[in-house]
Amino acid sequence: MKLHIKNNFTSELPADPIEINTPRQVQQSAYSYVLPKKPSNPSLIHASNEVAHAIGISDEDLLLADFLHIFSGSTIYPETNPFALCYAGHQFGNWAGQLGDGRAINLTEVIHENKIYTLQLKGAGPTPYSRTADGFAVLRSSIREHLCAEAMHYLGVPTTRSLSLMLSGDQVLRDVMYNGNPAYEKGAIVCRVAPSFIRFGSFEMFASREDYVNLKLLADFTIKHHFPHIQGEGIEKYLAFFQEVTRTTLKMILHWQRVGFVHGVMNTDNMSIHGITIDYGPYGWLEDYNSGWTPNTTDSQHKRYRFGNQPEIALWNLYQLANALYPLIKDAKPLETILDAFSTEYEKEYLDMMRNKLGFQIKKESDIVLIQSLTQLLERVETDMTIFFRNLSDVTKADLAITAFDSIKDAFYNEKDLDETVLKDWYDWLEKYSIRINEEILLDTERKNQMNAVNPKYVLRNYMAQLCIDDADKGDYSLLNELFEMLKKPYDEQPNFQKWFAKRPDWARDKVGCSMLSCSS
Ligand code: AMP
Ligand code: MG
Repeated sequence: MKLHIKNNFTSELPADPIEINTPRQVQQSAYSYVLPKKPSNPSLIHASNEVAHAIGISDEDLLLADFLHIFSGSTIYPETNPFALCYAGHQFGNWAGQLGDGRAINLTEVIHENKIYTLQLKGAGPTPYSRTADGFAVLRSSIREHLCAEAMHYLGVPTTRSLSLMLSGDQVLRDVMYNGNPAYEKGAIVCRVAPSFIRFGSFEMFASREDYVNLKLLADFTIKHHFPHIQGEGIEKYLAFFQEVTRTTLKMILHWQRVGFVHGVMNTDNMSIHGITIDYGPYGWLEDYNSGWTPNTTDSQHKRYRFGNQPEIALWNLYQLANALYPLIKDAKPLETILDAFSTEYEKEYLDMMRNKLGFQIKKESDIVLIQSLTQLLERVETDMTIFFRNLSDVTKADLAITAFDSIKDAFYNEKDLDETVLKDWYDWLEKYSIRINEEILLDTERKNQMNAVNPKYVLRNYMAQLCIDDADKGDYSLLNELFEMLKKPYDEQPNFQKWFAKRPDWARDKVGCSMLSCSS
């Protein structure tokens, strides 16, 4: 296995001069050198061939002992110096100070086919940023990260990738619901891959300490290596950078809303500077369409990170990034201009995204009302988001409201909910929808294909991940492999996987791991 090693981050940014691995405040440094803890008996559960190929690892390499040892943290690849990032952040709306990679260790950067990647082990042991925690990760959260990161990629959602999922062979103690019931679980290690793991919180770190020398160094580094197309110098350059982060973040959120993904912990330390989804913790997928839903029990009181609030929170987080970059720009006006445009821009793009989901090519003013009335209706009684949008593409131009309803009726969780008034409102809406698709030039089959390309048939429903975790805990990885294969083609019909195109079963409605998750991982 031959990797093309790059050490841009560590050669150009300041290292923590202290190399003792104890929890502490780290000043004037972008990272600390730290070695992964040797796992006692590592074994490979699953690897993503596509991610491997992207970074220059062949299918044969995946079978080598070298692969197992390097990506479990057992051995260190030659000429690399693993490091943990120092960053800060706002958690649940409050300033939290220094956070940092508490259970993540960056192995190295690599270059393959002119692209730069950072390889990072998650769950490979304590770092100076572990605070009171142990630096490890458990199998359940590692499966959730590995499967979901890859599923998101195949859905076309910008995301970190996941190269591998390994068991460490060690036991990790966790109190899953923070209710005084700690138990041992299997330890696991995922190797995440992204251009870099620089976050909004990386900039907040230096800004909060008024360390403007390092703030500038980090901004210059990030732009030079990851936004090389940004021209100009000084204020212009930083503004262009902020503008681009705003744009890519907006796009990422639009994708989340399109597929029904709820991140669950949109703290500023979990916001990638690349506008990619990062840190798969207590995330979840909408089953019944509910803008007020969050899977994260830690957030159950205020539901700050609920589905419908994600665009708002992205903007809030961008404000924090703007504050952090302000010392480099020293003029609030242009930053405010960019931030002020976010909501209108989002509304516009959201409308177009929903038009795509509904199969409209022509843009009509009146679509706003049609879409608003649809989202209200979807919330009225429990309606499965994925099944609704997928099946809506079966409606034809010739359908009457009643026959159109037949196409979508599988999406409702309880037939009893469909009383006369609810049915009437659905028929009214479908009648308007029918008129609307008759204004389109596309043939039914063309519209169906177009809709099916943006409305996935298969997503990683919370209960599916949980079933897979239950099996994996017993050493059976067949479901994990099956789901991984299925999620590679989320928009394809895949009749052999039809059984996964189904509503959440009743047993999963209020089960821990399925609809309720905590930050414990
Ligand atoms: P998260 O909410 O998962 O993004 O984590 C917030 C902060 O807590 C980050 O600095 C993490 O690195 C840290 N953290 C979370 N879990 C652990 C753990 N098991 N060991 C050490 N640090 C952790
Ligand atoms: Mg995090």
